[in-house]
Amino acid sequence: MPTKINRQWRLASRPRGIIEPSNFTFKEVPVPTLAKREVLVRNVYLSLDPAAWGWMQEWVTYVPALAIGDVMHGITLGVVEESTNARFSPGDLVYGLLGWEDFTVTDGRGLMKYPKDPSIPLPAYLSVFGLTGLTAYFGLLDIGKPKAGETLVVSAAAGAVGSIVGQIGKIKGCRIVGTAGTDEKCRWLTEEIGFDAAINYKTEKLRRSLMKHCPDGIDIFFDNVGGPLLDAVLTLINLRARIVLCGIISQYSTNGISSGPSLASIISKRVRIEGFIVSDYFNRAREAIVDLQKWIAEDRLQYKVDIVEGLENAPTAIGKLFDGTNKGKLMVKVSDEP
Ligand code: NDP
Repeated sequence: MPTKINRQWRLASRPRGIIEPSNFTFKEVPVPTLAKREVLVRNVYLSLDPAAWGWMQEWVTYVPALAIGDVMHGITLGVVEESTNARFSPGDLVYGLLGWEDFTVTDGRGLMKYPKDPSIPLPAYLSVFGLTGLTAYFGLLDIGKPKAGETLVVSAAAGAVGSIVGQIGKIKGCRIVGTAGTDEKCRWLTEEIGFDAAINYKTEKLRRSLMKHCPDGIDIFFDNVGGPLLDAVLTLINLRARIVLCGIISQYSTNGISSGPSLASIISKRVRIEGFIVSDYFNRAREAIVDLQKWIAEDRLQYKVDIVEGLENAPTAIGKLFDGTNKGKLMVKVSDEP
Protein backbone atom coordinates (compact mmCIF):
# COMPACT_ATOMS: atom_id res chain seq x y z
CA MET A 1 0.00 0.00 0.00
CA PRO A 2 1.43 3.48 -0.81
CA THR A 3 2.44 5.51 2.24
CA LYS A 4 -0.13 8.16 3.16
CA ILE A 5 1.31 11.66 3.02
CA ASN A 6 0.53 14.21 5.70
CA ARG A 7 0.70 17.88 4.66
CA GLN A 8 1.54 20.10 7.61
CA TRP A 9 1.98 23.77 8.44
CA ARG A 10 4.66 24.27 11.04
CA LEU A 11 5.71 27.30 13.04
CA ALA A 12 8.56 29.06 11.22
CA SER A 13 8.72 32.23 13.32
CA ARG A 14 6.73 33.97 16.05
CA PRO A 15 4.47 36.82 14.93
CA ARG A 16 5.67 40.30 15.80
CA GLY A 17 2.50 42.20 14.97
CA ILE A 18 -0.32 40.26 13.29
CA ILE A 19 0.12 36.72 11.99
CA GLU A 20 1.73 36.62 8.51
CA PRO A 21 2.00 33.70 6.04
CA SER A 22 5.78 33.87 6.53
CA ASN A 23 5.30 32.67 10.12
CA PHE A 24 4.58 29.19 8.73
CA THR A 25 6.52 26.63 6.78
CA PHE A 26 5.06 23.76 4.75
CA LYS A 27 6.17 20.18 5.16
CA GLU A 28 5.07 16.79 3.83
CA VAL A 29 5.74 13.74 5.99
CA PRO A 30 4.45 10.15 5.98
CA VAL A 31 1.54 9.39 8.29
CA PRO A 32 3.05 7.33 11.13
CA THR A 33 1.74 3.92 12.15
CA LEU A 34 -0.07 3.91 15.45
CA ALA A 35 1.51 2.86 18.73
CA LYS A 36 -0.65 1.45 21.54
CA ARG A 37 -3.66 3.51 22.67
CA GLU A 38 -3.39 6.02 19.84
CA VAL A 39 -5.87 7.46 17.39
CA LEU A 40 -5.36 8.61 13.80
CA VAL A 41 -7.68 11.51 13.01
CA ARG A 42 -8.31 12.77 9.48
CA ASN A 43 -8.93 16.49 9.92
CA VAL A 44 -12.02 17.68 8.05
CA TYR A 45 -12.43 21.29 9.25
CA LEU A 46 -9.73 23.40 10.89
CA SER A 47 -10.90 26.32 13.01
CA LEU A 48 -8.91 29.54 12.57
CA ASP A 49 -8.95 31.52 15.80
CA PRO A 50 -7.52 34.87 16.89
CA ALA A 51 -6.06 33.03 19.89
CA ALA A 52 -3.59 31.40 17.49
CA TRP A 53 -1.55 34.58 17.86
CA GLY A 54 -0.93 33.81 21.53
CA TRP A 55 -0.32 30.11 20.86
CA MET A 56 2.51 31.11 18.49
CA GLN A 57 4.36 33.15 21.12
CA GLU A 58 7.14 31.77 23.29
CA TRP A 59 5.13 32.07 26.48
CA VAL A 60 2.82 29.38 27.81
CA THR A 61 -0.86 30.33 27.50
CA TYR A 62 -3.53 27.79 28.35
CA VAL A 63 -2.12 25.43 25.72
CA PRO A 64 1.47 24.14 25.58
CA ALA A 65 3.88 26.62 23.95
CA LEU A 66 5.05 25.66 20.46
CA ALA A 67 8.71 25.40 19.58
CA ILE A 68 9.87 26.65 16.18
CA GLY A 69 9.34 23.75 13.79
CA ASP A 70 6.35 22.27 15.64
CA VAL A 71 3.09 21.60 13.82
CA MET A 72 0.84 24.61 14.35
CA HIS A 73 -1.86 24.08 16.98
CA GLY A 74 -5.41 24.17 15.66
CA ILE A 75 -8.84 23.11 16.81
CA THR A 76 -10.21 20.66 14.31
CA LEU A 77 -13.25 18.56 13.64
CA GLY A 78 -12.23 15.26 12.19
CA VAL A 79 -13.04 11.64 11.69
CA VAL A 80 -11.20 8.70 13.26
CA GLU A 81 -9.52 6.65 10.54
CA GLU A 82 -7.67 4.13 12.73
CA SER A 83 -7.55 3.50 16.45
CA THR A 84 -5.65 1.37 18.95
CA ASN A 85 -7.38 3.27 21.75
CA ALA A 86 -10.43 1.56 23.25
CA ARG A 87 -12.30 4.88 23.61
CA PHE A 88 -12.37 5.56 19.87
CA SER A 89 -13.43 3.60 16.79
CA PRO A 90 -12.98 4.27 13.08
CA GLY A 91 -15.75 6.56 11.86
CA ASP A 92 -16.12 8.50 15.14
CA LEU A 93 -16.60 12.22 14.69
CA VAL A 94 -14.11 13.97 16.98
CA TYR A 95 -13.12 17.46 18.05
CA GLY A 96 -10.04 18.73 19.81
CA LEU A 97 -6.88 20.80 19.82
CA LEU A 98 -4.98 18.98 17.06
CA GLY A 99 -3.02 20.65 14.29
CA TRP A 100 -2.77 22.41 10.95
CA GLU A 101 -2.33 19.15 9.04
CA ASP A 102 -4.23 16.50 7.10
CA PHE A 103 -3.88 13.81 9.77
CA THR A 104 -3.10 13.97 13.48
CA VAL A 105 -1.97 11.10 15.66
CA THR A 106 -3.04 11.59 19.28
CA ASP A 107 -3.28 9.60 22.48
CA GLY A 108 -6.90 10.73 22.68
CA ARG A 109 -6.45 13.00 25.70
CA GLY A 110 -8.69 16.04 25.29
CA LEU A 111 -10.33 14.57 22.21
CA MET A 112 -14.11 14.75 22.33
CA LYS A 113 -16.61 12.66 20.43
CA TYR A 114 -19.58 14.29 18.77
CA PRO A 115 -22.74 12.30 18.11
CA LYS A 116 -23.55 12.13 14.41
CA ASP A 117 -26.74 14.07 13.92
CA PRO A 118 -27.63 14.48 10.24
CA SER A 119 -29.68 17.58 11.06
CA ILE A 120 -26.52 19.45 12.18
CA PRO A 121 -24.17 20.66 9.43
CA LEU A 122 -20.60 19.73 10.42
CA PRO A 123 -19.26 23.33 10.37
CA ALA A 124 -21.75 24.13 13.14
CA TYR A 125 -19.69 21.91 15.45
CA LEU A 126 -16.77 24.32 15.03
CA SER A 127 -18.93 27.41 15.32
CA VAL A 128 -22.21 27.76 17.15
CA PHE A 129 -21.98 24.33 18.86
CA GLY A 130 -18.21 24.55 19.33
CA LEU A 131 -15.83 26.95 20.96
CA THR A 132 -17.53 30.00 19.44
CA GLY A 133 -20.99 29.23 20.79
CA LEU A 134 -19.71 28.10 24.18
CA THR A 135 -17.60 31.25 24.52
CA ALA A 136 -20.56 33.46 23.76
CA TYR A 137 -22.97 31.47 25.92
CA PHE A 138 -20.93 31.05 29.10
CA GLY A 139 -19.05 34.34 28.78
CA LEU A 140 -22.28 36.26 28.60
CA LEU A 141 -24.52 34.20 30.88
CA ASP A 142 -22.03 33.19 33.58
CA ILE A 143 -19.82 36.26 33.71
CA GLY A 144 -21.95 38.97 32.11
CA LYS A 145 -25.08 37.81 33.99
CA PRO A 146 -27.52 39.78 31.80
CA LYS A 147 -30.82 40.97 33.22
CA ALA A 148 -33.79 42.17 31.21
CA GLY A 149 -33.66 45.91 30.62
CA GLU A 150 -29.88 46.20 30.91
CA THR A 151 -27.63 47.59 28.19
CA LEU A 152 -25.03 45.27 26.72
CA VAL A 153 -22.21 46.53 24.50
CA VAL A 154 -20.36 43.96 22.39
CA SER A 155 -17.18 44.59 20.39
CA ALA A 156 -16.31 42.72 17.15
CA ALA A 157 -20.07 42.31 17.22
CA ALA A 158 -20.43 41.05 13.66
CA GLY A 159 -17.82 38.35 14.28
CA ALA A 160 -18.46 34.75 15.18
CA VAL A 161 -18.49 35.15 18.97
CA GLY A 162 -19.82 38.72 19.06
CA SER A 163 -22.86 38.07 16.89
CA ILE A 164 -23.96 35.18 19.11
CA VAL A 165 -23.34 37.19 22.29
CA GLY A 166 -25.60 39.96 21.03
CA GLN A 167 -28.39 37.61 20.02
CA ILE A 168 -28.32 35.77 23.34
CA GLY A 169 -28.36 39.14 25.09
CA LYS A 170 -31.46 40.03 23.09
CA ILE A 171 -33.11 36.74 24.04
CA LYS A 172 -32.42 37.70 27.67
CA GLY A 173 -34.17 41.04 27.17
CA CYS A 174 -31.20 43.44 27.03
CA ARG A 175 -30.64 46.48 24.86
CA ILE A 176 -27.78 45.49 22.53
CA VAL A 177 -25.22 47.82 21.02
CA GLY A 178 -22.45 46.39 18.87
CA THR A 179 -19.29 47.78 17.33
CA ALA A 180 -17.97 46.59 13.98
CA GLY A 181 -15.54 47.73 11.31
CA THR A 182 -17.79 48.35 8.29
CA ASP A 183 -21.21 49.90 7.58
CA GLU A 184 -22.24 46.64 5.92
CA LYS A 185 -21.55 44.71 9.14
CA CYS A 186 -23.41 47.36 11.16
CA ARG A 187 -26.43 47.04 8.88
CA TRP A 188 -26.40 43.26 9.27
CA LEU A 189 -26.39 43.65 13.04
CA THR A 190 -29.36 46.01 13.21
CA GLU A 191 -31.39 44.93 10.19
CA GLU A 192 -30.96 41.18 10.31
CA ILE A 193 -30.01 39.88 13.73
CA GLY A 194 -31.84 42.23 16.06
CA PHE A 195 -29.18 44.53 17.54
CA ASP A 196 -30.68 47.80 18.76
CA ALA A 197 -27.75 49.85 17.47
CA ALA A 198 -24.38 49.37 15.84
CA ILE A 199 -21.35 51.63 15.75
CA ASN A 200 -18.73 51.63 13.02
CA TYR A 201 -15.66 52.04 15.24
CA LYS A 202 -13.52 53.03 12.25
CA THR A 203 -15.60 56.03 11.18
CA GLU A 204 -17.54 57.15 14.26
CA LYS A 205 -16.49 58.90 17.46
CA LEU A 206 -16.72 56.06 19.95
CA ARG A 207 -17.74 57.95 23.06
CA ARG A 208 -20.25 60.16 21.28
CA SER A 209 -21.90 57.17 19.58
CA LEU A 210 -21.97 55.15 22.78
CA MET A 211 -23.62 58.08 24.59
CA LYS A 212 -26.25 58.26 21.87
CA HIS A 213 -27.02 54.53 21.85
CA CYS A 214 -26.65 53.82 25.56
CA PRO A 215 -28.82 56.53 27.15
CA ASP A 216 -29.06 54.53 30.39
CA GLY A 217 -25.34 53.78 30.59
CA ILE A 218 -23.66 50.41 30.12
CA ASP A 219 -24.32 47.42 32.36
CA ILE A 220 -22.34 44.77 30.50
CA PHE A 221 -19.39 45.11 28.16
CA PHE A 222 -18.40 41.95 26.34
CA ASP A 223 -15.00 42.86 24.93
CA ASN A 224 -13.53 40.85 22.08
CA VAL A 225 -11.10 43.55 21.04
CA GLY A 226 -9.31 45.38 23.88
CA GLY A 227 -7.82 48.83 23.44
CA PRO A 228 -9.50 52.23 23.13
CA LEU A 229 -13.12 51.04 23.18
CA LEU A 230 -12.73 50.01 26.81
CA ASP A 231 -11.72 53.59 27.65
CA ALA A 232 -14.86 54.96 26.04
CA VAL A 233 -17.08 52.31 27.67
CA LEU A 234 -15.66 53.04 31.12
CA THR A 235 -16.82 56.64 30.92
CA LEU A 236 -20.42 55.37 30.65
CA ILE A 237 -20.22 52.36 32.90
CA ASN A 238 -23.02 51.80 35.42
CA LEU A 239 -22.88 50.80 39.05
CA ARG A 240 -22.06 47.09 39.42
CA ALA A 241 -21.56 46.64 35.74
CA ARG A 242 -19.80 43.51 34.46
CA ILE A 243 -16.99 43.51 31.95
CA VAL A 244 -16.32 40.22 30.23
CA LEU A 245 -12.78 40.28 28.88
CA CYS A 246 -12.97 37.76 26.10
CA GLY A 247 -10.28 38.79 23.61
CA ILE A 248 -7.78 41.48 22.69
CA ILE A 249 -7.51 41.13 18.93
CA SER A 250 -6.72 44.85 18.47
CA GLN A 251 -3.56 44.44 20.53
CA TYR A 252 -2.08 41.72 18.35
CA SER A 253 -0.99 44.28 15.76
CA THR A 254 0.95 46.13 18.47
CA ASN A 255 2.46 42.91 19.75
CA GLY A 256 0.22 42.84 22.80
CA ILE A 257 1.40 46.24 24.03
CA SER A 258 -1.28 48.74 25.00
CA SER A 259 -1.03 52.16 26.55
CA GLY A 260 -3.91 50.90 28.74
CA PRO A 261 -7.21 52.38 29.85
CA SER A 262 -7.72 54.37 32.99
CA LEU A 263 -8.98 51.84 35.52
CA ALA A 264 -10.21 54.42 38.03
CA SER A 265 -13.89 53.92 37.35
CA ILE A 266 -13.55 50.16 37.80
CA ILE A 267 -12.72 50.90 41.41
CA SER A 268 -15.17 53.73 42.02
CA LYS A 269 -18.12 51.93 40.44
CA ARG A 270 -17.20 48.51 41.92
CA VAL A 271 -17.17 47.06 38.43
CA ARG A 272 -16.45 43.40 38.11
CA ILE A 273 -13.99 42.77 35.31
CA GLU A 274 -13.19 39.16 34.68
CA GLY A 275 -11.21 37.23 32.17
CA PHE A 276 -12.16 33.70 31.23
CA ILE A 277 -11.21 30.78 29.04
CA VAL A 278 -13.92 28.73 27.44
CA SER A 279 -12.25 25.41 28.26
CA ASP A 280 -13.32 25.93 31.91
CA TYR A 281 -16.84 25.28 30.68
CA PHE A 282 -16.31 22.21 28.51
CA ASN A 283 -17.94 19.98 31.15
CA ARG A 284 -21.12 22.07 30.77
CA ALA A 285 -21.14 22.06 26.96
CA ARG A 286 -24.38 20.04 26.77
CA GLU A 287 -26.25 22.74 28.69
CA ALA A 288 -25.22 25.37 26.15
CA ILE A 289 -25.86 23.21 23.12
CA VAL A 290 -29.42 22.41 24.24
CA ASP A 291 -30.25 26.13 24.52
CA LEU A 292 -28.40 27.11 21.34
CA GLN A 293 -30.18 24.40 19.34
CA LYS A 294 -33.54 25.48 20.71
CA TRP A 295 -32.94 29.15 19.85
CA ILE A 296 -31.84 28.25 16.32
CA ALA A 297 -34.95 26.06 15.85
CA GLU A 298 -37.11 28.95 17.10
CA ASP A 299 -35.41 31.29 14.61
CA ARG A 300 -34.12 33.49 17.41
CA LEU A 301 -30.44 32.81 16.74
CA GLN A 302 -28.44 32.94 13.51
CA TYR A 303 -24.82 32.07 12.93
CA LYS A 304 -22.54 32.39 9.93
CA VAL A 305 -19.54 30.37 8.87
CA ASP A 306 -16.77 31.42 6.50
CA ILE A 307 -15.19 28.30 4.97
CA VAL A 308 -11.93 28.57 3.04
CA GLU A 309 -11.18 25.54 0.83
CA GLY A 310 -7.86 23.76 1.24
CA LEU A 311 -5.25 23.33 3.98
CA GLU A 312 -2.74 25.00 1.67
CA ASN A 313 -4.62 28.30 2.16
CA ALA A 314 -4.60 28.33 5.99
CA PRO A 315 -1.65 30.75 6.46
CA THR A 316 -3.23 33.41 4.23
CA ALA A 317 -6.80 32.73 5.38
CA ILE A 318 -6.03 33.50 9.03
CA GLY A 319 -5.27 37.10 7.97
CA LYS A 320 -9.01 37.59 7.41
CA LEU A 321 -9.47 37.73 11.18
CA PHE A 322 -7.14 40.69 11.41
CA ASP A 323 -8.35 42.70 8.40
CA GLY A 324 -11.98 41.99 9.27
CA THR A 325 -12.88 40.29 5.96
CA ASN A 326 -14.10 37.06 7.59
CA LYS A 327 -17.84 36.66 7.29
CA GLY A 328 -18.63 34.48 10.29
CA LYS A 329 -16.71 31.73 12.03
CA LEU A 330 -13.55 31.27 10.03
CA MET A 331 -12.43 27.74 9.21
CA VAL A 332 -10.56 25.79 6.56
CA LYS A 333 -11.95 22.72 4.84
CA VAL A 334 -9.08 20.27 4.98
CA SER A 335 -10.75 17.15 3.55
CA ASP A 336 -14.12 15.80 2.49
CA GLU A 337 -16.87 15.32 5.03
CA PRO A 338 -17.36 11.65 5.98
P1 NDP B 1 -14.28 37.07 14.71
O1 NDP B 1 -15.15 36.27 13.82
O2 NDP B 1 -14.90 38.07 15.63
O3 NDP B 1 -13.16 37.77 13.82
C1 NDP B 1 -12.32 38.73 14.34
C2 NDP B 1 -12.92 40.15 14.11
O4 NDP B 1 -12.21 41.05 14.93
C3 NDP B 1 -12.70 40.63 12.68
O5 NDP B 1 -13.70 40.20 11.78
C4 NDP B 1 -12.70 42.15 12.88
O6 NDP B 1 -14.02 42.66 12.71
C5 NDP B 1 -12.30 42.33 14.36
N1 NDP B 1 -11.00 42.99 14.47
C6 NDP B 1 -9.82 42.59 13.92
N2 NDP B 1 -8.84 43.47 14.23
C7 NDP B 1 -9.43 44.44 14.98
C8 NDP B 1 -8.95 45.65 15.61
N3 NDP B 1 -7.66 46.01 15.52
N4 NDP B 1 -9.84 46.41 16.30
C9 NDP B 1 -11.13 46.04 16.41
N5 NDP B 1 -11.65 44.93 15.83
C10 NDP B 1 -10.80 44.15 15.14
O7 NDP B 1 -13.37 36.09 15.61
P2 NDP B 1 -13.87 35.13 16.76
O8 NDP B 1 -15.31 35.28 16.96
O9 NDP B 1 -13.30 33.80 16.50
O10 NDP B 1 -13.11 35.73 18.05
C11 NDP B 1 -13.55 36.97 18.63
C12 NDP B 1 -12.77 37.25 19.90
O11 NDP B 1 -13.08 36.25 20.85
C13 NDP B 1 -11.25 37.21 19.71
O12 NDP B 1 -10.65 38.27 20.42
C14 NDP B 1 -10.85 35.87 20.32
O13 NDP B 1 -9.53 35.87 20.80
C15 NDP B 1 -11.88 35.76 21.42
N6 NDP B 1 -12.11 34.39 21.90
C16 NDP B 1 -11.89 34.15 23.23
C17 NDP B 1 -12.15 32.91 23.77
C18 NDP B 1 -11.95 32.69 25.22
O14 NDP B 1 -12.07 31.54 25.67
N7 NDP B 1 -11.67 33.74 25.98
C19 NDP B 1 -12.57 31.77 22.93
C20 NDP B 1 -12.83 32.15 21.52
C21 NDP B 1 -12.58 33.43 21.04
P3 NDP B 1 -14.29 44.22 12.35
O15 NDP B 1 -14.55 44.30 10.89
O16 NDP B 1 -15.47 44.54 13.18
O17 NDP B 1 -13.05 44.98 12.74
